[in-house]
Amino acid sequence: MSARDYVEKDYYAALGVSKTASQADIKKAYRKLARQHHPDANKGDAASEEKFKEISEAYDVLSDETKRKEYDEARTLFGAGGFRVPRGGGNGPGNGQGVPFDLGDLFGGGGGGGLGDIFGTIFGGAGRGRGAQAARRGGDLEAEVTLSFNDAASGVTIPLQLSTPMTCPTCHGSGAKPGTATRVCPVCSGTGSQSRNAGGFAFAEPCRECFGRGLLVDDPCATCAGTGQAISTRTLRARIPAGVKDGQRIRLAGKGSPGERGGPAGDLIVTVHVHPHDVFGRKGDNLTLTLPVTFPEAALGATVRVPTLGGAPVTVKIPAGTTNGRTLRVRGKGLTRRDGTRGDLLVTVEVAVPKTLSDDARAALASYAEAQRDDPRAHLSKLVTADE
Ligand SMILES: [Zn+2]
Ligand SMILES: [Zn+2]
Repeated sequence: MSARDYVEKDYYAALGVSKTASQADIKKAYRKLARQHHPDANKGDAASEEKFKEISEAYDVLSDETKRKEYDEARTLFGAGGFRVPRGGGNGPGNGQGVPFDLGDLFGGGGGGGLGDIFGTIFGGAGRGRGAQAARRGGDLEAEVTLSFNDAASGVTIPLQLSTPMTCPTCHGSGAKPGTATRVCPVCSGTGSQSRNAGGFAFAEPCRECFGRGLLVDDPCATCAGTGQAISTRTLRARIPAGVKDGQRIRLAGKGSPGERGGPAGDLIVTVHVHPHDVFGRKGDNLTLTLPVTFPEAALGATVRVPTLGGAPVTVKIPAGTTNGRTLRVRGKGLTRRDGTRGDLLVTVEVAVPKTLSDDARAALASYAEAQRDDPRAHLSKLVTADE
């Protein structure tokens, strides 16, 4: 019997009695149903067997005044949307008082992980003031991808493998083998902590018997080895839009953890890394490209073929007298924007200076120097002269 049972199961309904029924009424109702659904009278009838278990469990709690009081209390508190439950939620020895405590304790990460997990799955969101049984939005998940420059520019659909912790589907998080029950830890009475005396001080530490869980599993669930947790791995195809930047975070709505009790799924947030390109760079939505040209091309003008990213090359006209570092704009050959329009390709001219010269080239340059007498440092030479 777990806290979960107390909240999820309606024992009064199981026995078909009112909440104010007397012990005599409860006993009468139980006897009648027990005769009707007894396994001996219903061989191989799974539904009857289930019903028999249910009424036995109900009778076990309701026929015991202490357990019944705890049960009523737990259901009243949750029914009213309150956040307090009897500690341990259980019916263990020494727990007759049902000491109330704040559910926040469980979510605060203070040692009682197991219990917190159980309550977390049932009452998630309660701490934020919603009803105890309210639908809960699934959590957001994070993933990282590294894309080639081209994929980032054009957009790409990639498979993402996500591993997320989930409640064990076999035991629904109790950690107990189906058909068996967890029991309240007798050492800590379900509190999950023990106090230890050391040098006159009392320390609270996680219970060693139940590892702070408050519950013991005698017959562990084979799927999760009694942890109540499982890892769900799923592969989903994520569409990365065109034009993502290195370091950009993309929110894929509804691709995160599934919601609980009909709540919406969370989002998947993908951090994108983009490999640099050998040739192209990026400036916002524009692509950049450094275009080496010869001095004659810059001086005389030229028509040069320039590659584009993922498309046919374009022809760029270098005007006569283009200076080093001048940027020419090729419209519409940049990155695709969200609205479908495209940025530009910014071509920056870089006059290449040959490291070595053939004899002919050297002779030609000498004649050029002879022919071209304009001094590019004329504005500086005046200053140089003045200083001397
Ligand atoms: Zn399990
Ligand atoms: Zn314990």
